[in-house]
Amino acid sequence: MEQLMANFLVVLILLTATRTADAAERKTENAILITLDGVRTQEIFGGLDLDVLKSITKKGKVEDTTAYKRYWAPTPQERREKVMPFFWGVLMKHGSIAGNRALGSSVEVTNNHLFSYPGYAEILTGQAHDGVIDSNDKKRNPYATVLEFLKRKLGLDSKRVAAFASWDTIDWIVEHEAGSITSNAGFEPYDHPDRVIRELSKLQFETDPPWDSVRHDAYTYRFALAHLKKYKPRALYISFGETDDWAHDGNYQRVLDALARTDSYLRGLWELLQSQRRYRGKTSILITVDHGRGDTDWRDHGEKVAQARYIWMAFISPESELRGEWSGTETIYQNQAAATLCRFLGLDYSENNPEAGKPIGRLFEGQKGQRDPNSK
Ligand SMILES: [Zn+2]
Repeated sequence: MEQLMANFLVVLILLTATRTADAAERKTENAILITLDGVRTQEIFGGLDLDVLKSITKKGKVEDTTAYKRYWAPTPQERREKVMPFFWGVLMKHGSIAGNRALGSSVEVTNNHLFSYPGYAEILTGQAHDGVIDSNDKKRNPYATVLEFLKRKLGLDSKRVAAFASWDTIDWIVEHEAGSITSNAGFEPYDHPDRVIRELSKLQFETDPPWDSVRHDAYTYRFALAHLKKYKPRALYISFGETDDWAHDGNYQRVLDALARTDSYLRGLWELLQSQRRYRGKTSILITVDHGRGDTDWRDHGEKVAQARYIWMAFISPESELRGEWSGTETIYQNQAAATLCRFLGLDYSENNPEAGKPIGRLFEGQKGQRDPNSK
């Protein structure tokens, strides 16, 4: 009995010590999720895809195209930095990215639909529900999302958990209880005390993109930053959309231009975060995509396009020491994003969904000199 008691005490002391150490070392107080709709691994890791550009250049030489002049360089590293100079030049000094299959790192979607709603739902709930979530229709997500979970666990009001999206259907995906968080998506007015933001809110209805359900990312970006400055959300989701739509339209130059603009938005967000004591060094960011697209069939995705299963995922977090590209690692999955975001904050997402993918263990290896239990 005495021995049993002694053992029990040792375990108790160890548990307390681990917990205190974990709380003391964890720096993250805010989590930001960013998605870039339908951006392929080919462009993220290799920039301009010359085969694609050749296939659509019907007249004249490929070298004379604007896309070539803007984005071509001999190596994949140089090409991707032409499209995303901030992501590769700055963000990857502070974080890492998985999904470059040329280096033996793969990120995969687990749903079999390979289009947007199922992809976003997998990211936000941590699980594929192929039988239930099978269209892009504006239907309420039946499952509680990671944003709703964070709101509850962190005891936040609805202004401090916010989602801004270019695609209108995101409104229906980010929350299973309408109105529980701030959600502004598609052509939707955004009310804000700043006069300039109110003008932009009006302007979004006067600057039509070629699509009915997706506003320009320029508005989404500015509303999200205005919200961040004013209401200091602890959980923020920014969902950019144009990259997918230009690809469906077959306009490859616009895909690259939109991706380059998104890179400048990442810069703007990052600089804002660094300027605020509440966010600097205390914010974990996860950047990913809802689905990939075909290889030669770069316009498309969906269950008939097998390559659309391959995605990428980037992490910029004070909780992780990994930098640059992952190589020679086991496959990770889209359904692990929700639990990973929570893990950055020291929260256990399995409380919300026991079936969800687990936190990505590799990110947390080396913490406290220990191997993470989920890192297998
Ligand atoms: Zn699409």
